[in-house]
Amino acid sequence: MKAVDIITKKRDGEILSREEIEFFIQGFTRGEIPDYQAAAWAMAVYWRGMTNAETVALTLAMTHSGKVLDLTPIAPRVLDKHSSGGVGDKTTLVVAPLVAALGLPVGKMSGRGLGFSGGTLDKLESIPGFRADLGTEEFLAQLKRHGIVVSGQTHDLAPADGKLYALRDVTGTVASLPLIASSIMSKKIAAGAHTIVLDVKVGRGAFMKTEAEAAALAELMVQIGHGVGRQVAAVISDMNQPLGNAVGNALEVIEAIETLKGRGPADFVEHCLEVAAQMVLLAGAARDEREARAQLGAALADGRALKKFGEWIAGQGGNARVVDDDSILPRARLIETIAAPREGFIAAIDAQEVGLTVVDLGGGRAQKGDAIDHAVGVVFQRKVGARVARGEPLFTLHANDRAKFDAAKARLLAAIEFRADAPAPLPLIHRIVR
Ligand code: URA
Repeated sequence: MKAVDIITKKRDGEILSREEIEFFIQGFTRGEIPDYQAAAWAMAVYWRGMTNAETVALTLAMTHSGKVLDLTPIAPRVLDKHSSGGVGDKTTLVVAPLVAALGLPVGKMSGRGLGFSGGTLDKLESIPGFRADLGTEEFLAQLKRHGIVVSGQTHDLAPADGKLYALRDVTGTVASLPLIASSIMSKKIAAGAHTIVLDVKVGRGAFMKTEAEAAALAELMVQIGHGVGRQVAAVISDMNQPLGNAVGNALEVIEAIETLKGRGPADFVEHCLEVAAQMVLLAGAARDEREARAQLGAALADGRALKKFGEWIAGQGGNARVVDDDSILPRARLIETIAAPREGFIAAIDAQEVGLTVVDLGGGRAQKGDAIDHAVGVVFQRKVGARVARGEPLFTLHANDRAKFDAAKARLLAAIEFRADAPAPLPLIHRIVR
């Protein structure tokens, strides 16, 4: 078998066999198939798609490109959640400690920013000292000791996804249903969680632009998970405007901590409660959603979730003082609030544009391995549906470079659509797939 023949076959729209997919993924993982061939193959998959059988084969090939953890000796049921990628999506930073605070262990292998979407690991790494590169033994030890761990892919867990993910980020091959499904599910299966809630985003700031695409992705991932004996459900959630108010690594950490203190933006709080409630329900720890939400509400209100957050951060080497003092986070040199240029209702905030703007400010990567500027980003004072008067604060921009600041300001103003009458409210959750 030759890599070039597999690329050509996919380029011409043919179906790859399980053996061909395994050959390609194994060769790529071992470094025998170079990045440029993998990039060409990913582009062919992007355009030609894959059948469900090919996607299952790709998922399993990536899963078995490394070790597959068995977490059962640590806890009979470990929970996990994963987002398909959005803008302002800091859900893990709240949901993981919130669920862990109920005594339900959360073990999660997470990703970095991808295209216009932010990555949980990049956000967490804004906290001084935080280690997102735990080895497998450290991952297991943190889970056992603290009941919560979120780390990046170790070299021995789904390494094929780690390599392909970084390549896709910079080759325009992210928004592909089979590549997203296999990327997410290979990580989830390899990391060993028994109960997994998938947060599938739909809309302008998501890789899936229509509800039909999001539902197809959700159903396929649920099916893959069930096929390997995991409990899986998916929440299809809206990503037309950014989630919460903050977009940018350190800014999102601050918003997550505020949320754990009971002062989060309403849309973000509701989203976190829904994802967390689905995790609790799927794990069988509550009879119904009302009971799950009551348990979660109590853990937020009495400070258990915040305490668990601090314990988690400290356990992974981070400075837990961040909980009380956000001045330890990187801070941008230029911080200015931009006023509304006109009066009216905000009809739309194009989340993809917002995500790309933050990447251009330095908050994401243009090339594989680029360093991230954790301090930059934007905090919205008004979201879709708000009525604003001319001159009222719209958003606060955080930048480290005047030219980039000016470009970002113009781009964000263009991303906000005004209208004279109140727009229909955006839904938060579209539906649940089990
Ligand atoms: N999250 C992942 O882990 N992989 C993708 O491809 C997209 C989102």
